[in-house]
Amino acid sequence: DVTAQQDEKHLFKIVLIGDSSVGKSNILSRFTKRQFNFDSQPTIGVEFATRSLTENGKIIQAQIWDTCGQERYKSITSAYYRGAVGAMLIYDITKQKTFENIEKWIQELKEYAETNVVAMLIGNKADLKAQRKVPSDKAAQFAENHTMAFMEVSAFDGTNVDLAFSRLINEIYQLIN
Ligand code: GDP
Ligand code: MG
Repeated sequence: DVTAQQDEKHLFKIVLIGDSSVGKSNILSRFTKRQFNFDSQPTIGVEFATRSLTENGKIIQAQIWDTCGQERYKSITSAYYRGAVGAMLIYDITKQKTFENIEKWIQELKEYAETNVVAMLIGNKADLKAQRKVPSDKAAQFAENHTMAFMEVSAFDGTNVDLAFSRLINEIYQLIN
């Protein structure tokens, strides 16, 4: 039955936010294209890519939005957040400042996104263990204080990237059902 099948399809808009160079574009390409670029160019404006996945027998179209950030912290227009059901707040585990700025990204998310948007804290570049500046337990505590999930990932070697998206998507799915 075609109608029933269509009912099982979900389109989830998920926005990637965080300072410039934390790895947003590489997380996007790792998840949607299985690719990593060492010399990725700063994103011009806004772009999105989709990947379909099945969670609990339901087809979910994850539409992931990525933006540029020319400055260390640059606010994004409300159009970017419109209709978003999920947000990944991304920092670089080797750059303390990018973690401190998460507070600002949370404020911006609160200001522009829907109240029920599901946020998740993501520490990227987990492969660079020797250069770590942000301890995992500190980030985990921060995430707990803000009642959001937390995961460290690596767009470079792919560690936890799929898992992070499926965790976020699952949480969104639980919320709407
Ligand atoms: P964006 O500005 O947030 O979109 O960041 P990019 O995706 O353009 O990445 C910025 C730089 O960090 C690039 O040189 C990437 O190759 C590098 N990078 C991104 N993710 C990782 C990662 O997981 N590990 C390592 N070692 N480098 C990464
Ligand atoms: Mg980018």
